[in-house]
Amino acid sequence: MYPPNNPCLTQKRTSCILATRMKIEFSLLSGLSCLLLLFFAFQGEAPELYSVEIGCEVSDEAINITIDPIFLVWTHCATDLSYLAMKGKHAFALGNVIACRNRHRDDQLIDLALQHEATHIAQQRALGIFCPLGYLCGLNMEGEPYYSMPCPDNNRAMVLEKCVWAMWAPPAKWHNQWSFIALTFPLSVPIH
Ligand SMILES: [Zn+2]
Repeated sequence: MYPPNNPCLTQKRTSCILATRMKIEFSLLSGLSCLLLLFFAFQGEAPELYSVEIGCEVSDEAINITIDPIFLVWTHCATDLSYLAMKGKHAFALGNVIACRNRHRDDQLIDLALQHEATHIAQQRALGIFCPLGYLCGLNMEGEPYYSMPCPDNNRAMVLEKCVWAMWAPPAKWHNQWSFIALTFPLSVPIH
């Protein structure tokens, strides 16, 4: 017998009691991100938090919460290793980490360049291990034709903006393959 003030009694089917079997999942993405952060930390380059996205999905069985931060490292390429990691690139994105050369920090268009990298992070999260297939299957991962377009200085902002806009990004209802941290709170057995 439930006590009379139990709210579960008033619902035919309810999932109002949280079970204690909370599950925490770290993806391959989290592992890669942590390794990359450690790599830069050993070069003396501390990350800063660029953004954080928190998602929540509720079903009959569970409440799922996802936490997806993006860390930003400004690298001076002071060591051979970090120079090697950045070789030929102004910036790159892997897992939850954007690494960008410190000399671009005060560039006028740095915000757009970081948005480009943040979109790559959204792509990786959305497609998981299939992300390389996105390039092979013809998804516009880089924002062509603007990405490869030579642009004079007075046109750079517009081209870069169009490049970010043209990049493939997961639609709003997309189910991401990876999250930095996923928490699952199973709900109690439904009461009939
Ligand atoms: Zn890119």
